[in-house]
Amino acid sequence: MYDTSTRKRALALVAQGRSLNSVSKETGISRAAIRSWQTRIEPLPRMRQTFCPLCGPTADPPADRGAYAYLLGLYLGDGCISPGMRSGYFLRIACADAWPGLIDACVAAIKAVNPSGKASRVHAVGYTSAVGYSGHWPCFFPQHGPGKKHDRRIALEPWQQAIVDVHPWEFIRGLIHSDGCRITNWTTKTVGGVRKRYEYPRYFFTNVSADIRRLFTDTLDNLGIEWTHCTRHGNAYNISVARKASVALMDVHVGPKY
Ligand SMILES: [Zn+2]
Repeated sequence: MYDTSTRKRALALVAQGRSLNSVSKETGISRAAIRSWQTRIEPLPRMRQTFCPLCGPTADPPADRGAYAYLLGLYLGDGCISPGMRSGYFLRIACADAWPGLIDACVAAIKAVNPSGKASRVHAVGYTSAVGYSGHWPCFFPQHGPGKKHDRRIALEPWQQAIVDVHPWEFIRGLIHSDGCRITNWTTKTVGGVRKRYEYPRYFFTNVSADIRRLFTDTLDNLGIEWTHCTRHGNAYNISVARKASVALMDVHVGPKY
């Protein structure tokens, strides 16, 4: 844990035009930590005390906050944590093979957050799981618990909310990439005797947990994105973003799956 004057000194070096790399080498502070101070200089709230040997007494949140916010969205949408054979846990995010770019993004996020820097792919029929092994996952994802996520209360810890507050789009992107989609409705209108096709892109997010839907819509509210509840295929678990300006912002920061 670095104090505020150390943080300011490192940022002052960057402000002189030095690269993150050279400042990192000179100060011994990781590039990810310096980068995170550029968006939030105050220390994050500490994680809850755990018995994890990696956390030790300080229990710092993950250093790469952007990657963490994205991975948190993926985890809440479609991830699971299960105990491994030794003292560690598997974090698994299932990705449809139809979206190879998402599999890459997911593997990269697990590598960035996993203290070991490792992640792998496990292939199954029609989907690929991005998997990371660590004793640390329950510390980083305290929402882990027995049973299904929609059967229990899901709330963010203060340190997680602080990360989502500075990286809201990464969090939204993770949620959309796991449990959302961008679709295009269309219709035709006859204008001046000519039939024209009009397209209406919109985003959907679908999750059976009311708590997780609420985390999604609270973050949209903070970003000024308009949304509505929407029943689709007889299922009331959908959030829709359809207003033109809001869809345009979502396109800049999220975009279609790839
Ligand atoms: Zn830990």
